[in-house]
Amino acid sequence: MERVRVELGERSYEIAIGPGLIAMAGELLRQALAHLIPQSGVSLPVAGRRLFVVSDTRVDRLHGARLKESLAAAGFRVSTAAIPPGERQKSLASLGRLCSAMLNAGVERGDALVALGGGVIGDLAGFAAAVYMRGIDFVQVPTTLLACVDSSVGGKTAVNLPASKNCVGAFHQPRLVVADIDALRTLSARDLRAGAAELVKHGAILDPELFCRLRRDVHRLLALDAEFTTWALVRSCQIKARVVTQDERESGLRAVLNFGHTVGHAVEAGAGYGRYRHGEAVSIGMVAEALLAERIGFAQEPVVQPLRDLLQSMRLPTSLPAGLDIDLLMASMHTDKKTRGGRLNIVLPKRIGHVETVPLEDESPLRSVLCSLCG
Ligand code: NAD
Repeated sequence: MERVRVELGERSYEIAIGPGLIAMAGELLRQALAHLIPQSGVSLPVAGRRLFVVSDTRVDRLHGARLKESLAAAGFRVSTAAIPPGERQKSLASLGRLCSAMLNAGVERGDALVALGGGVIGDLAGFAAAVYMRGIDFVQVPTTLLACVDSSVGGKTAVNLPASKNCVGAFHQPRLVVADIDALRTLSARDLRAGAAELVKHGAILDPELFCRLRRDVHRLLALDAEFTTWALVRSCQIKARVVTQDERESGLRAVLNFGHTVGHAVEAGAGYGRYRHGEAVSIGMVAEALLAERIGFAQEPVVQPLRDLLQSMRLPTSLPAGLDIDLLMASMHTDKKTRGGRLNIVLPKRIGHVETVPLEDESPLRSVLCSLCG
């Protein structure tokens, strides 16, 4: 098992990465929660503390029993809820239902919420943990590649409004992340590829070596070769941890993680939640934003071709579906959290391994890039 530490003072925590970790989760949680005062300020012995495990029905069927057994064996009282899979569940209505289920199960301020699933479950459960009884502890057990390297780390939690992704949320750090690479073996090929898009993003924004290794060895990642997958997850989590440590609340550096997301979020909302996986929309977004960087002369070297080649080799989409309403996409970008004073702030690559946030004075090059990407 490898461990990556996210240094945030008294809110520091570890990401445990390796095979077979769900079966060890009870022990890992016991250690992580034992010497911590819960968010609420109430101090409780581990034995008898209630853990409320939330998952989606698919993940629950595949991995729920193993996790619950392990938590119960470590002395926790365990309650569970499983919601339908899919991005549509990241809503205020689901949040209300989840909080009610926790209340009915008797979850108190000293208890903790465990998110077992992909980024949808992690974002929804994390936000529920941030607001339920004004904040309780939570633990992430990510089961998609995307969640392992990105959404489970860093404490961003949110639900969507119909017109805007992640519009209502909170910063709420987990107490522990347990990334079991064996859990990824039940993922569909499509979800595995979509998650790998966020690894490409980490390489493209801050780690040219990761980007190069992916160009050479991405087939090993997509085959879940244990050695390469562990290496890539550790490397990717180290990048995310470094960024979050320096800028937890996104007042500067953390914005680099949004590369591909200004366009990506608009594509997700514009195409209708559920049509694209998040990682697929980010793949299109990265290509669009790289094209913009070249078109306005911001990029100092070719960035589109290496990105497009790698993403296409992973069979990820790199163009927009025909007929997508470009006006709607542009309008959706203006409801994004990255907008300042009505002006779009967009993360553009200068070269592979270096990106910067750029205020967009003139939106016409972006519009023309989007038109050129429409299939
Ligand atoms: P997801 O949670 O919807 O999971 C995708 C699908 O995979 C679901 O159908 C799920 O049931 C299934 N699944 C999950 N684990 C499985 C497993 N081990 N075996 C078989 N099937 C499994 O999607 P995702 O791609 O993990 O996450 C996307 C979400 O993450 C988006 O809402 C995005 O906004 C969010 N996100 C958040 C952050 C953050 O910092 N908070 C960062 C990136 C993305």
